[in-house]
Amino acid sequence: MAANTTAAKTAQADADELKPCECAAYDALPADLTEEQVASGDCEVFSTGCTASTERQFAPGHDAKLKSALIRWGALGLDIRRNEGGVATSASADKHAKCYAFARMVAAGVKRAQDKAAEKAHKAEERAARKAAPSKSKKVTAKVGRATFEGRMDGDHFVYEVKGKERRTLKFQAI
Ligand SMILES: [Zn+2]
Repeated sequence: MAANTTAAKTAQADADELKPCECAAYDALPADLTEEQVASGDCEVFSTGCTASTERQFAPGHDAKLKSALIRWGALGLDIRRNEGGVATSASADKHAKCYAFARMVAAGVKRAQDKAAEKAHKAEERAARKAAPSKSKKVTAKVGRATFEGRMDGDHFVYEVKGKERRTLKFQAI
């Protein structure tokens, strides 16, 4: 970053102004935790992992870091908290984002991520359904008497066709 208005100050004064990066104030918890779980720390806490100090609001690039964290956490439906002076304030991702330049990108990003997740879940469901469907009418080869037939199972019965007529039997031997 080029020289700014604080350039005239002494190095000591600049050092005094260093404060934790804004993005480090945020963390997120699963929204369905009980108060006891939160109090005991028996839960997964998401954080930006930021330990940077800066004389500005954000360490370089960390506004983008916070933006993507808010989008990610918002899409996961987490309880997002801003911690200041030992007080944690919960709000939605886009509410937290309101005071930053990237505010509008967060709301849009969360929606996009949620749509994507929904589409993914839908596709997985379709895949599972396709996988489950053929197994219902899965072909079974079995010996009935001395002949071998291809048929299907219906409960305990082996169902097969002889000259276009459906037959069912309990006396068979699956091959
Ligand atoms: Zn940071």
